Amino acid sequence: MGLAAWVDKAVWWHSSGCLLWVGPVDEEGYPRIYHGGKNKRVTRLICGAPDDKRVLHHCDVPCCINPDHLYVGTGKQNAADMHRRGRAHVKRDALNARFAKRD
Ligand SMILES: [Zn+2]
Repeated sequence: MGLAAWVDKAVWWHSSGCLLWVGPVDEEGYPRIYHGGKNKRVTRLICGAPDDKRVLHHCDVPCCINPDHLYVGTGKQNAADMHRRGRAHVKRDALNARFAKRD
């Protein structure tokens, strides 16, 4: 299935204005599809971002593909963003909890 067909299936989340991807996602919850024979992040395809840039979310919803909620930035900006939102720790704690359960 191509990008356009998947975008067609995306669902509006009215309270936030997010357009939620319902197709395949990676382990971090980011939409991914095969495009031109490569596994690509959908948000990158939508923004047309070059490989040395990251596509970041204003809304902080990994599966959101609303172009109005996306912006192209650097990895450094992304880290700063996560830090500002206090997500770096949350994410690590969630991961630790997940692995702890397996023991
Ligand atoms: Zn959004």
